[in-house]
Amino acid sequence: MDDFHYQQGQLYCEKVNLEQLAAAVGTPVYVYSRHTLETHYDRIAEAFAALNPLICYSIKSCGNIHLCKLLAQRGAGMDVVSGGELHRARLAGVDMAKVVYAGVGKTDPEIRQALEAGIGYFNIESEAEFQNIASIARAMNVSARAALRVNPDVDPKTHAKTTTGKKETKFGVDIERAHRFFERYGRESHLRLCGIHLHIGSPIFTVEPYVQAIEKVLALIAQLRQEGIAVGVLDLGGGFGADYQSEQSPSAADYAAQIVPLLQPFHAAGGQIILEPGRTIAANAGMLLSRVLYLKTGGQKKFIIVDTGMHHLVRPTMYDAFHFIWPTNVAPAHEPKQRKATMDMPGLETCDVVGPICETGDFLARDRALPPVARGDLLAIFTAGAYGMVMASNYNAMPRPPEVLVDGKQITLLRRRETYDDLVAPEIQAVTGGAVRNQG
Ligand SMILES: *Cc1c(COP(=O)(O)O)cnc(C)c1O
Repeated sequence: MDDFHYQQGQLYCEKVNLEQLAAAVGTPVYVYSRHTLETHYDRIAEAFAALNPLICYSIKSCGNIHLCKLLAQRGAGMDVVSGGELHRARLAGVDMAKVVYAGVGKTDPEIRQALEAGIGYFNIESEAEFQNIASIARAMNVSARAALRVNPDVDPKTHAKTTTGKKETKFGVDIERAHRFFERYGRESHLRLCGIHLHIGSPIFTVEPYVQAIEKVLALIAQLRQEGIAVGVLDLGGGFGADYQSEQSPSAADYAAQIVPLLQPFHAAGGQIILEPGRTIAANAGMLLSRVLYLKTGGQKKFIIVDTGMHHLVRPTMYDAFHFIWPTNVAPAHEPKQRKATMDMPGLETCDVVGPICETGDFLARDRALPPVARGDLLAIFTAGAYGMVMASNYNAMPRPPEVLVDGKQITLLRRRETYDDLVAPEIQAVTGGAVRNQG
C-alpha cells in the first residue's frame, strides 16, 4: 500500500519518525514518500508493459514540480488541464512531446502557449474547441496533433462530482457524434486528428467500466477504419483507484489483466496507447500530518479539533471521501494492522475530527472510532497525496502547509510553508504596482 508504517506504536514514513519530522517542520504538513510514489508509477509501467504505453501522469492530482520531476526522470509524460499545469510540467523538465492537454475550457493564450511548447496531443472536448485550436495553429503556421475525447456513456459507479464519462456530463463528445466529427475534421492539416481519448471518471474501483468503454471505442475505431479514417492513438485517461482503505482498489496488475488483452490487437497493428494515471500514483504516497488543538463535547458528540481541515484537504466535505486517520503514537494494542472505516479494537472512542474553519462542512472524519487522544497529539491523515495539496485554499486567510519528501532517512522541503505576507502580496502589489492591467 505505502511506506507509512507503525513500529513500537510510532508512525514512520520510510525511516523517518513522524513525531520528529513534525517537531522539525511544524504542522500541518504534507509528507510524501519517494519510494511509494516511484513504486506506484513503476507498477503501472510494469503491468501495462506489453502495450508499451506512454504514461502521462496527471499533474492535477498532485502537482509539486519536484515530485513531477521524479516521475519525469522515470520516463513519465504529463497530462495537463491548464496553462499553469503546462508551466509546472516545463519546470519539472518534462519532455513536451510527452504532454497531453485536456480540459473543456482552454483559452486562446493557453492554446498558443501549448502550440509554442510543441506538446504531444490536444485532447479535444468539443467541435468549437477543435475549430479554435485549428485556426490558432493555422495563424501561427504550426501543426499539432489531436485526440477526440469521446464520451462512451458508461457509468463508472463513483461519486457524481467525479463521474465524467456519462452523456450528461460536460466532457467530451457523444460516441454517436464522434463518427461525424472524424468525417468533418479528419483532414484538417494544422490540427491532425489522429486519436481517441477517454476519461470516464475517478476513482473507479472496478475494471468493468474500462472494459465497457474500451469495447465501445474499439468498435468505433473499426468502423472508422472501414471508411478509410485511421485512428492511431488511444488514450485511456486515468481514474484507477487507490487504497483509501486496505485492499479497496484493484492493483495495477488487476486492471491490466483485463485491459491489456483487449488492446493487444490495436497495439500489434501499430497503435499507440496512452494512460493518464494520477490518483493511483500519488494518493498513497502522501499524507497530511496535523496536531490536535482541542477536545470538546457538543450534545452527544465528541469533537477532536485539529490545526488543518477542509482548507487543506477538501475531499471529505466535497466528495464524502474517506481518509483513514490515526494518532502517530499509540499503545501497542492500538497499532493498526490495516486501515478500515471500522477498526475492531478495545478502548476506541467515536469522534468527529474537525478543523478551525468557520463552516460546518469543515470536517475530516465523522463518527470515527479512534484511540484516545489529547491536546498536542499528532494525527496522521492517510492517503492524502492526490487531490490534497492541489485543492488547498487560503480560506479564512490560512496559509497553506509545506510539502516535504521523505527518502529513506532524508527529509527534503519541496515547498515552504506560506506566510502571512504570501497571503496579501498580490493585494499589496496591486496598489504599489500602479494601474489595473489585463493579464491575458
Ligand atoms: C483528472 C484526470 C485524470 C487523472 O485522474 P485520476 O483519477 O487521478 O487518475 C486523467 N485524465 C484526465 C483528462 C483528467 O481530467
